[in-house]
Amino acid sequence: MPRRRTHLSLTGQVALLSLIPILALGFVLARVLQSQIVTRTLADAGESAQLIARLGIQPRLTPQELRAGLSTPDVDALDEQLRARSVKSDLARIKIWNNRGRIVYSDDHALIGRSPGESDDLEDALRGEPDPAEVVTPSLHTETASEVGLGRLVEVYVPLRFVDSGPPAGVFEIYLSYRPIAAAIGRDENMIALLVFVGLALLWAILFRIVASASRRLSRQARENDRLARYDQLTGLPNRTLFRERLARAFGDGSPAARASAVAVLLLDIDAFKQINDTLGHRTGDEVLREVARRLQPRLGPEALLARLGNDEYAILQPLEGAVAEALAVAGAAQAAMEAPITLDGVALNVEVSIGIAVAPDHAHDADTLLQRADMALDRARSHRGRVEVYSPTYDQSGAARLALLGEVRPALERGEFVLFYQPQLDLASGRVNSVEALLRWHHPQRGMVAPLEFISLIEQTALVGPVTLYVIELALRQLAAWRAGGLELGISVNLSARNLHEPELARQIEALLRSHAVPAAALTVEVTESAAMADPDTAVGVLDTLRALGVGVSIDDFGSGHASIAYLARLPATELKIDRSFVSRMCESPREEAIVRTTIDLARHLELRVVAEGIETTDVCERLAAMGCDIGQGYLISRPAPAEELTPWLRDHVPGAPGHERSREVRAPSASAATTRS
Ligand code: C2E
Ligand code: MG
Ligand code: MG
Repeated sequence: MPRRRTHLSLTGQVALLSLIPILALGFVLARVLQSQIVTRTLADAGESAQLIARLGIQPRLTPQELRAGLSTPDVDALDEQLRARSVKSDLARIKIWNNRGRIVYSDDHALIGRSPGESDDLEDALRGEPDPAEVVTPSLHTETASEVGLGRLVEVYVPLRFVDSGPPAGVFEIYLSYRPIAAAIGRDENMIALLVFVGLALLWAILFRIVASASRRLSRQARENDRLARYDQLTGLPNRTLFRERLARAFGDGSPAARASAVAVLLLDIDAFKQINDTLGHRTGDEVLREVARRLQPRLGPEALLARLGNDEYAILQPLEGAVAEALAVAGAAQAAMEAPITLDGVALNVEVSIGIAVAPDHAHDADTLLQRADMALDRARSHRGRVEVYSPTYDQSGAARLALLGEVRPALERGEFVLFYQPQLDLASGRVNSVEALLRWHHPQRGMVAPLEFISLIEQTALVGPVTLYVIELALRQLAAWRAGGLELGISVNLSARNLHEPELARQIEALLRSHAVPAAALTVEVTESAAMADPDTAVGVLDTLRALGVGVSIDDFGSGHASIAYLARLPATELKIDRSFVSRMCESPREEAIVRTTIDLARHLELRVVAEGIETTDVCERLAAMGCDIGQGYLISRPAPAEELTPWLRDHVPGAPGHERSREVRAPSASAATTRS
């Protein structure tokens, strides 16, 4: 059985320790005072004896009587005199000696006339230097033999002088009974002991109070320090330190015996939080962080721990009965908590969270690995905004595979494995095609045709994005020049990455490419997503302004899918808005999506921008868009993206002025069968 150690509180320790010096002080004080009392009392006894001698005895004696002895009437007169004195009660024995060592008077008449032999005390007194009063116990064979039987006595010698100078003529020796003196000393001692005890007890109590209140202050301070070190100031939630401690404890601090049965870590990240912060200010950002904490907390069970790890990242530690489904349910509850918009200063913000989940012991056997795996899952979830991802062991492999793919990009560029597909953009009013969008494909020797979503985000994280973009623009302009040479008066759109907008020389490079292919700048449009433009708006606006100045069109791609405010968009030198296909594809089923599409078209018209709807897959959608006044449509209904050689014959039928175009001029919304099946 483990030995239980009782820990004394700081106050208890100080109380006990301070008791030792206080008791020692009490003891010493009592001893000193006691000896003072005894000395004082004996001195008092000596003084009263002197008084008796000087006032009561000496005036009744003459030097003659001392030398020769007293007559019987003188002895009787002295007896009488002493009896009349109140000191009598304490008086045990009186002797008057002459300077030859003979007793001339004593209350014990049997001693008168005797010379018992001189003692040291008597000699000192006869020399005029009597010893101070002292306590004696009479015993036989000493100078106190005659006092045996009188109990303990106080002995005082008083020299008797008849002239001021010279040795004393005799000595008056008095014995006072010690019993009443001892009683007085005892009383005084008791009183002093009581006073010392009460005084020291009071001192101790005051000391105890001071220590107790200082100790309370210290422990309050310690608690506050602990709170500051383990809790997040903004939300009041546990911080990363406390979260990691609890997580380590869930793993039994390393000992397998104490390990919890199963535990899930959910990492939550607010989507596009940076944009909220940048656009609406840090005060609003802070309020969003607090509100997210307020909403999440009540959705969790009492056994779960919610923490803020930093920035816009939260973590939940959730003990599990065993199944991952429980963790998914917690994630679902967390997302449900974010459904209602957060309204701040009259602005309703739709805040979404991406969630990454990892579960022990399935995914990790220690705290660090579990956190790292939850983080990998979160990365996955983030790339698909608002998603929940559970860690999968294939991540590590696919991570390696992604790296390998990245290594292949540059050789692929040189070998010409990157090719462009083109997707036509149809003028919905006239049914004519005026432009195409160039979409990148990787003709991978082993993997076949790889779609951009699988590798663009990878390339975007590296400096390769610059060369790849220039390569795309070069290919697109070359194809455009060929089409134009063949009588197809088309424009072309190319997609730019966020990183491209941070390269100030991009505009100059594009200008050079336009010149080398002899393509007018107005025939080229660059597409940027709103979030790409917002990542670093000042540089982005600079690059786009320069392109606009050349005459290149600027299109805002995937409009509505980001978090840009309208005021912000107004800063961008755009010529075109592309409504995100998530709204377009659902607009016929959902009145909400339809309202968004309609509003975007109105907005574009007011901003004098061309509006393009992407993702048109049905005739219903196409007709509805045309009725709403949308300028241009793009989607599988019109044509899937296709290589140039496949698309060229189709274009000849749909581009105004193209050789042979007259044939199908009446086609307004081409049927899906007219489109190529390649994607
Ligand atoms: P995006 O610019 O919005 O391109 C439109 C995407 O929607 C294309 O996917 C196209 O194939 C697809 N799409 C067109 N019509 C329909 C339809 O009716 N239904 C459905 N479901 N989808 C349709 P893709 O080619 O896979 O491109 C995906 C994204 O990759 C593009 O989105 C663009 O953001 C990016 N991307 C493509 N090429 C490039 C490029 O050369 N450079 C850069 N930076 N990004 C590119
Ligand atoms: Mg695009
Ligand atoms: Mg798009």
